[in-house]
Amino acid sequence: MSRKKLKDLGFDLPLLPTTTVGSFPKPPELMRARAEFAKGKITEAELRAEEEKATIFWVEKQEEIGVDVLVDGEMYRGDMVAYFAEKMPGFVLGDLVRSYGNRYYHKPIIQSEVKWPGPMTVGWWKFAQSRTRRPMKGMLTGPYTIMDWSFNEHYVDRRAACLAIAEEIRKEVEALIEAGAKIIQVDEPATSVRPEELPLVVEAMEIVTEGLPAYFITHICYGAFQKIYPQMLDIPVDNFDLELSNNELSMLDLMKKNRFSKDISFGAVDVHTHVVEDIDTVKKRIVQGLEVLDPEQVWVDPDCGLKTRTVEESIEKMRVVVTAVKQLRTRYVKSTSQVQ
Ligand SMILES: [Zn+2]
Repeated sequence: MSRKKLKDLGFDLPLLPTTTVGSFPKPPELMRARAEFAKGKITEAELRAEEEKATIFWVEKQEEIGVDVLVDGEMYRGDMVAYFAEKMPGFVLGDLVRSYGNRYYHKPIIQSEVKWPGPMTVGWWKFAQSRTRRPMKGMLTGPYTIMDWSFNEHYVDRRAACLAIAEEIRKEVEALIEAGAKIIQVDEPATSVRPEELPLVVEAMEIVTEGLPAYFITHICYGAFQKIYPQMLDIPVDNFDLELSNNELSMLDLMKKNRFSKDISFGAVDVHTHVVEDIDTVKKRIVQGLEVLDPEQVWVDPDCGLKTRTVEESIEKMRVVVTAVKQLRTRYVKSTSQVQ
């Protein structure tokens, strides 16, 4: 459990801290600006102004709702892998491909040695953090997922490509820490797809996080958890942010057999449905989680990024998470103090 680490980093978070996975939907004005920019009708500065406006909107919204640890909402990103590939020398963007259901993206191609181009996310982190006193997560995509979602035409194999990317992503993490970020999320949604490559995920994350003074989170979407649990706990991060509700909390059965030894960001609302869960449903899910997890190790958030929902649905899904947690907090704080 890492509450001590959080304290040592200067955070005094409440029991069951609330957060979100990372992305929010882009408001209609920003969608329009992106389309116009793509057609050359507006300048980069005009697009940037809309991205800033949208970022401020989401920072203020999270504060108003009462989320404890905020995100910048990723208003400046299209795709979570292409964003980094576009910036890093060594990659070129390939054709549009379809993956994971309805997700279309330009699959990057690694054509030469991958290099860190200088800060890729730090400016946006600073911009968002400067607008709130609450902690802002640093957000980036992990080396394994960047490798897995790209074609490799340069390195001898997947491992070599992955580890080379890891060395460069570490530089981005160092730059975030240098700027003041202390909670850093390295997304690895591809982790569960090839269970035999889990040791590679671990090895790459070691390169990204080893010896650095930050609280690390990794987000992994639902997949074949039964094939990588409990071994996935070897990934060197403090907190696993997991999609649980979309799968009726079936992962809790695995945790009953093998104790979950790290902190967890507990996905308590499904991001794949337009329906906003009611407070009792969300409370029930969290309580079920707390039957196998210690309240001290649990954060609560939606299952995944909210970018596929509407602005209103995202706000309501966040609100129901925060309200459910607030109602439960008193219960668990009480029961903890009774024990003492
Ligand atoms: Zn996800």
